[in-house]
Amino acid sequence: MKNYKKKKGIFKMGCEYCGRINGHETGCPNFVSPKTNFNCCYCKEGIYDGEEFLCNCEGQYIHRDCIPGIDFVINWLGYEVKEMENSNCFD
Ligand SMILES: [Zn+2]
Ligand SMILES: [Zn+2]
Repeated sequence: MKNYKKKKGIFKMGCEYCGRINGHETGCPNFVSPKTNFNCCYCKEGIYDGEEFLCNCEGQYIHRDCIPGIDFVINWLGYEVKEMENSNCFD
């Protein structure tokens, strides 16, 4: 009997490094950077097809997953947090 290694697990094997079926994780040795015109202003990586992002009125882009917090995104989008005053005043 031949001494061949039996593949473990599911039949549809992903990448041997990152485990993805389609494409590769960033940082995977098999990963080849696709071209993109859009770069995340936070992590400086490209924003590729299928990735979620926001853009602000200055034309900056950020990955959804890179948003460090709600305060950041409020400022970045140019919104202002206000404190309610006189909410009972109807005049
Ligand atoms: Zn991979
Ligand atoms: Zn990013």
